[in-house]
Amino acid sequence: MSTDAFRRLFGHDPDGEWAAPGRVNLIGEHTDYNDGFVLPIALPHATRVTARRRDDGLLRLHSTRTEGDPVELSVDELAPGGVPGWAVYPASVVWTLRRAGHEVGGADLHIASDVPSGAGLSSSAALECAVALAYRDLHKLDLDVRELALTAQQAENDFVGVPCGIMDQMASMGCEEGSALLLDTRDLTQRQVPFDLAAAGLRLLVIDTRVKHDLADGAYAQLRAGCEQAAALLGLPALRDLPTGSLTAALDRLPPELALLVRHVVTENDRVREVIGLLDAGRLAAVGPVLTAGHASLRDDFRVSCPETDLAVEVAVAAGALGARMTGGGFGGSVIALVPDGGADGVAAEVVAAFAAAGHTAPRIFSATPSAGARRLG
Ligand code: ADP
Ligand code: MG
Repeated sequence: MSTDAFRRLFGHDPDGEWAAPGRVNLIGEHTDYNDGFVLPIALPHATRVTARRRDDGLLRLHSTRTEGDPVELSVDELAPGGVPGWAVYPASVVWTLRRAGHEVGGADLHIASDVPSGAGLSSSAALECAVALAYRDLHKLDLDVRELALTAQQAENDFVGVPCGIMDQMASMGCEEGSALLLDTRDLTQRQVPFDLAAAGLRLLVIDTRVKHDLADGAYAQLRAGCEQAAALLGLPALRDLPTGSLTAALDRLPPELALLVRHVVTENDRVREVIGLLDAGRLAAVGPVLTAGHASLRDDFRVSCPETDLAVEVAVAAGALGARMTGGGFGGSVIALVPDGGADGVAAEVVAAFAAAGHTAPRIFSATPSAGARRLG
């Protein structure tokens, strides 16, 4: 526990330490706000919150990523739009718990993280979930994993102002080591699907393109609104309810821009089912081409890729990856590539060389194994 840093900052010992991971989504992108299916794994990278409860209504926040003294807020005065900068994320969780009627007060929170920010690896959900878990324990709240994830999502929706779906928070809270989490985002039913890369002789590379996306900038909200508008035009509760067999007929009834969004969402839900069938059959390597098909759909239909993510996918596949796709909301961020064990270094080197040749910032590349969800550390 980073007790020393905590003591230096706040002048007393913490009550405990909690951690919540970032994630990559294997398949099922932009499906979560369409009531569809997602299949994330938690990363070994996590956000750790060392915390002490306060009963005077003061919320004091420090992150190792920021300079200077802790941010000080009064929990009674928290209001959407009223907290500038990164502190909006932890504050959002406290505000949401209080809105739901939980009588929680302040805390001293020290935040340290190795989840890259704005890289499509969900550092925001990791931060929200670590704070939510700390508050559950500090205030003995009777909230389960699902309720904590929903609290964190509402915090990001209603206080931060990002209309994200439920995937990131459910992944950070509920993933388990060694498995991918199959989540039905309509009713939040889930299944842990064993994802043993080593046994299959495979590695999952994460390529952070270093192109910062900014989900709060409105593009994500527009896509979500477009999907909801298309569902309404088709007379459906959500795009999840459009069967693949009715897709062609449905597309004819929509304006072209909306038709493209719909085609991505419907085919992407199919790709999740296809990947699940392959994983259940123990055919991990066969997942590769489905990932690449998913990328083409995000690039051509949903149009959320960018030159750097497209280049990473193209070069990784040409260099021997079984498949690759951007992961996360898009407009930059990260790419995942499924590669044979012995080929990982070669794929990474080719991607680095291609980025240099194109004049892009050097990407950050690491291997990911399915890791544990949010937990108390001490
Ligand atoms: P992503 O979730 O893909 O990383 P977001 O834009 O949703 O990207 O969230 C990134 C934001 O979350 C950062 O700009 C910062 O405000 C906040 N954040 C995440 N991790 C930390 C941290 N360890 N310390 C301070 N702020 C953080
Ligand atoms: Mg985020």
